[in-house]
Amino acid sequence: MTAVPTRPVYLDHCATTPVDERVFEAMRPYFLEAFGNAASTSHGFGHAAAAAVLRARNQVASLLGVDVDDRTGAREIVFTSGATEANNLAIKGAVEANAEKGRHVVTQATEHKATLDTCAYLAERRGGDVTVLPVDRYGWVSAADVAAAIRPDTVLVSIMWANNETGTLMPIREIGAACRARGVLFHSDATQAVGKVPIDLSADPVDLLSLSAHKFYGPKGVGALFVRRRDPRARVAPQMHGGGHERGFRSGTLNVPGIVGLGMAAELCAAGLRDEAARTAGLRDRLEQRIAAAGGVSVNGHPTARLPFVTNLSFAGIRGDRLTGLLGDVAVSAGSACTSASLEASHVLRAMGVDPQLAAQSVRLSVGRSTTLEQVEYAAGRLVRAVTELREPPADI
Ligand code: PMP
Repeated sequence: MTAVPTRPVYLDHCATTPVDERVFEAMRPYFLEAFGNAASTSHGFGHAAAAAVLRARNQVASLLGVDVDDRTGAREIVFTSGATEANNLAIKGAVEANAEKGRHVVTQATEHKATLDTCAYLAERRGGDVTVLPVDRYGWVSAADVAAAIRPDTVLVSIMWANNETGTLMPIREIGAACRARGVLFHSDATQAVGKVPIDLSADPVDLLSLSAHKFYGPKGVGALFVRRRDPRARVAPQMHGGGHERGFRSGTLNVPGIVGLGMAAELCAAGLRDEAARTAGLRDRLEQRIAAAGGVSVNGHPTARLPFVTNLSFAGIRGDRLTGLLGDVAVSAGSACTSASLEASHVLRAMGVDPQLAAQSVRLSVGRSTTLEQVEYAAGRLVRAVTELREPPADI
């Protein structure tokens, strides 16, 4: 990994990750000498680009346990501009392609806005009908609730693999099994999970899966949607029309350097996944342990079913944005969206039943590939000091 400087300390890997230097080096030639259009089959420039895209398709497929294809590249991987687009394609595309069955979609309250807003659009503008399931206090949606919500006109269930604010891992296998039993397509937004926890789509009953390179040390602006071709074949209508690229699923000249970066990022994650999960979990646990010393700290999210690299903490009596403002060279994310006029607590924490005031007193810390123990100790020390400062009444002079 590149020398990411020890200061400032970057603890916001859920928001985005630095591009790994090996990813950057793999991309470089595709900006400069090998700049061809992957669809230009009449010359070597185009062939070189197409070959690089083929390789990347198989690298992504390997990370997900999907069939690779040495001739065409894995045919179930559709490259997109990121997870927002992949979610839009999966949800709008599945509803459109399966309209003869119905327009009912099941999702849940802590999804990313890329899912919730897409579902709301379908309901408001496209005659869709959306059931948004509640979660428990850990942010879990139960497979039994999903099964009970499925109706004869349900065309899609969309439940994220892992939540981007708390790290809570959803019971994907159980939900997928419930969908299979009822013949309903299952989409999962796995943006925070890909490259961080094992995903094996040869066994996991997921039909559509969204991912984004910039969450796992690849570049921004590139991602993919996995579209299952067999048992069942997931039917999805394209949402971007043009030259019929990506087997008609997504037209537009391919972002070859980005796709190469995505492929290399996937390969690097696959190689180190288990060790890196254990290492980051150790750093995350150390952060939690040290910060607990500040007192009045509670962890939001599932105690065990959670991503290894993130924690979401509430600090009783201290607004998240005031705390992050005092941290100086430690970059973390306030767990709530605040505007100057109002303090709006995160929809995720509110759905989990966290008191709105406490929800606005939360902070998300997420470690990554370049995070060191020394950085964690430093960041924890700064956080505890900031909390103490904010809690102590100013001295009367
Ligand atoms: N889904 C989840 C769970 C995410 O965390 C994000 C990124 N914050 C997205 C979707 C959107 O991804 P992208 O930035 O690739 O559009």
